[in-house]
Amino acid sequence: MNFVFNFIMLKHYSIPVFIPELACPFRCVFCNQRKISGHITIPDTEKVIKIVKTHLVSFKKTDRWVDVAFFGGNFTGIPLFEQEAYLNVVQPFLASGEIQGIRLSTRPDYINEEVLDLLEKYHVSTIELGAQSFDDKVLKKSHRGHTASQTEKAAKAILERGFQLGLQMMIGLPGDSLESSLFTARCIVDLGATSTRIYPTVVIKETALHQWYLKGEYFTLSLEEAVRWTTKIIPVFEAGNVQVIRTGLHPSEGLVPGKDLIAGPYHPQFRELVLSEIWLNNLLNAIVGLKDSDIELIIPKGQLNYAIGHKGLNRQKLQDYCKTLKFTESAALKGREFEIQVIA
Ligand code: SF4
Repeated sequence: MNFVFNFIMLKHYSIPVFIPELACPFRCVFCNQRKISGHITIPDTEKVIKIVKTHLVSFKKTDRWVDVAFFGGNFTGIPLFEQEAYLNVVQPFLASGEIQGIRLSTRPDYINEEVLDLLEKYHVSTIELGAQSFDDKVLKKSHRGHTASQTEKAAKAILERGFQLGLQMMIGLPGDSLESSLFTARCIVDLGATSTRIYPTVVIKETALHQWYLKGEYFTLSLEEAVRWTTKIIPVFEAGNVQVIRTGLHPSEGLVPGKDLIAGPYHPQFRELVLSEIWLNNLLNAIVGLKDSDIELIIPKGQLNYAIGHKGLNRQKLQDYCKTLKFTESAALKGREFEIQVIA
C-alpha cells in the first residue's frame, strides 16, 4: 500500500502581550524593562483582548499557528488570581481555534506546583525561563537572585508536567566568559529545552550596569566578540535540536542607541551578522588550498544572503582565497550543506 503524506507549512505568529515589571521584586543589574519594552502601562484584561483581536485580523486566515505570548517581567510572580484573569481572557480564542498556544516567560524561582497547576488548567503550552546563565558566579554578580540549580529544578518540573520548555540565555554578563556561555548552552540542551533566545548584554540607562560602566567596573563585549561567541554557541543548540527563536535584541524593543542604550553589542541585524559569520567560517575552511581556482559555491535555497554575508562581506573575503567565485542556490541542499565545484 502506498501512503501519500501532505505536509502543510504553517505560518507561525506570536501575539506579544507585554506585562512590564509587574510584581518583579528584583533588580537585575542589566534590567530596566520599561526602557527595553517602550511600554509603560500594565494592560488590563480588556486591553489584552484588544491586542489579540488586533493582531488576529492582520494574520493570514489559514495554515497558521498562533501563540499568545505573555512576556516581560515575571508572569508567575504576579498573584495567582491576576495570572488566572490574563489566562482566562484568551481561553475563548483557544476554544474557537483562532489561537493554538499560550506561552509565557518568567523567572526560574517562581515556578512551583501551585503555579504549574494553574498554567496546566489554562492550557499554557510553553513556559520560558530567564535562565541567563548556568554559572552561579555570573548569576550572583548580575544580582539575578536565583541559582543555576533553581533553574534546573524548575526546568525539570516544567517538563515533567508536559509543558514545552524555553530557556533564555545572555552573554557578556558580569563575570561571563566564552567558556561559561558555552557551558550555559550545553546545560540548556541537556535539560531538554525546545527553544532558546540568546541576548548579548547591553548597558541600558538607569541600571546598575550603567553605573558600573561609567565607573569602569564593567566592560561590554564588542560587537565582534558578541558575534564570535554567538557563532560558537549556535552550533551547540543546532546539534541539540534546540530552536533558537531570537538572537539579539529586536529593533522594535524600543531601545534607542545613544539615548536609552548606553553601550554594548547591539546591532539591528545581529542575527544576520552571526549567521553570516558561521557561513564564512565554514566556507573558508573548505576553499583553503584552492587559491588559483574558479569556484562555484552551491548553497541551499534561502541561505544566499548569509553565505554572501552582511553587505557582501563574506564574498569579498572569500574572493581573496580563489581566482573567481560564483554562488548558486540549490533546493536539493538543506541547512548549511554546501557543495564546491572547481570550474578550472
Ligand atoms: S527578573 Fe526580569 S524583569 Fe525582574 S529585574 Fe530581572 S530581568 Fe528585569
